[in-house]
Amino acid sequence: MVQIHDKSFIPYLSEAQIKEKIKVMAAGISKDYADKKPLFIAILNGAFMFASDLFKELTIDAEISFIKLASYSGTKSTGNVLTAIGLDTDINGRHVIIIEDIVDTGKTLSSFLPQLEHQSPASIKLAALLNKPEATTHPVKIDYLCFSIPNKFVVGYGLDYDGLGRNLKEIYQLDDHVLV
Ligand code: 5GP
Repeated sequence: MVQIHDKSFIPYLSEAQIKEKIKVMAAGISKDYADKKPLFIAILNGAFMFASDLFKELTIDAEISFIKLASYSGTKSTGNVLTAIGLDTDINGRHVIIIEDIVDTGKTLSSFLPQLEHQSPASIKLAALLNKPEATTHPVKIDYLCFSIPNKFVVGYGLDYDGLGRNLKEIYQLDDHVLV
């Protein structure tokens, strides 16, 4: 059990379970992208640890770049606008693999992926550590996935609760068991 700010979290996925799934994912990607020299785009902050461990396990030539997504309110007609900060690599003609920590509602990626498609990459695929299928409101196709999890808040392994918990080596789930 760990305490972060005002909440308690219970162990959910061990370091060994995470590492094992990442090895399998990296082997699959290495096979699918042999000779394609893919460009990985990892989404900060949450995906930094997953991106690092996944990238280390690849056995092919590959590049990696890191971006941050920022959302700001646009005009009435555009609604909220999502911009990518730090994408300094030309993706035209490249085989791109997005690395995301968790796909929850799918809102973030369903807004960001079409923006990337406009830049004419050869292909775009998505690699996610976690997915909460019950939370989906904006479906996105996840091409490589480590774990499908229930609709409960998780922390650790790069994921935070209000800034803390990213350094945990395992993934913890919010303990919603209320003591009375
Ligand atoms: P979406 O747009 O898919 O709803 O949200 C994706 C982002 O929300 C993730 O990249 C992550 O930053 C955040 N998020 C969603 N669910 C969780 C969760 O259970 N724990 C943490 N720490 N962040 C989450």
